[in-house]
Amino acid sequence: MKKLIGIHRGAEAHWVGDGFPVRTLFSHQEFGPTVSPFLMLDYAGPAEFPPAEQPRGVGEHPHRGFETVTIVYQGELEHRDSAGNRGKIGPGDVQWMTAASGVVHEEWHEQAFTRRGGVLEMIQLWVNLPAKDKMSPPRYQEILAAQIPNVDLDGTGTARVIAGEFRGAKGPARTFTPITALDLRLQAGARVEIDAPEGHSTLVLVLKGQVATAGRTVGEAALAIFDRGGEGVVVEAAGDATVLVLGGELIDEPVVAYGPFVMNTQEEIRQAMQDYRSGRMGRLEPSA
Ligand code: MN
Repeated sequence: MKKLIGIHRGAEAHWVGDGFPVRTLFSHQEFGPTVSPFLMLDYAGPAEFPPAEQPRGVGEHPHRGFETVTIVYQGELEHRDSAGNRGKIGPGDVQWMTAASGVVHEEWHEQAFTRRGGVLEMIQLWVNLPAKDKMSPPRYQEILAAQIPNVDLDGTGTARVIAGEFRGAKGPARTFTPITALDLRLQAGARVEIDAPEGHSTLVLVLKGQVATAGRTVGEAALAIFDRGGEGVVVEAAGDATVLVLGGELIDEPVVAYGPFVMNTQEEIRQAMQDYRSGRMGRLEPSA
């Protein structure tokens, strides 16, 4: 079994743009290689938005050197980027955007959701890329709920396999390094054994309810962080719980981050700023 390092609760909420009231549940600044290949996770909501005319969100901004992964639990989002990708995602959908050499994008509440109002709950996860892939072309995977295998947990819930493998089911996300991402919806009596290989980071994030793992209780918006050594974790639920399990291989390279850029050296950060300013990461078409 993997050893539990600790249970971490996110910092106080802050706004990303005017659309996303988030709690940062972990960051590489705080946990370094322990959470690699993940860099950061923001948990937005659940927050109720009244009906409105103007979509809330984050306007045009760049990314380089990593991937942004958006998982929607409630509400609907809209996105478009300088590589020409556009998408709308709703509950159960995942947008896996590889910024790599650079994209400029914007992220908003979806139009109809804005007019209707309602609860928004989502996650944005930042996934690092190996140095050799940081300058590869951008890529965009829109993974709809219907494409994500749903593994029945012996009648005590389901595991949606977004990335990696669980009980023989393979997640649709294409990743640069080995990554596991499981969306668990648990009911009373659930006992889930997760492979969590030796050398992989393992993070158990509880969004709703509470679970027991490694002899400890993990409550809402809390994160259990496991050691890379050892193999396997077990998650048990005594009632309804929503849990995100993340894991992956270490990217054993320096991380130099500045805002929306995550590279390996200061020089590469300077280059990223210059490339963004000079339009080499592309531009958004003016909105209609
Ligand atoms: Mn972004």
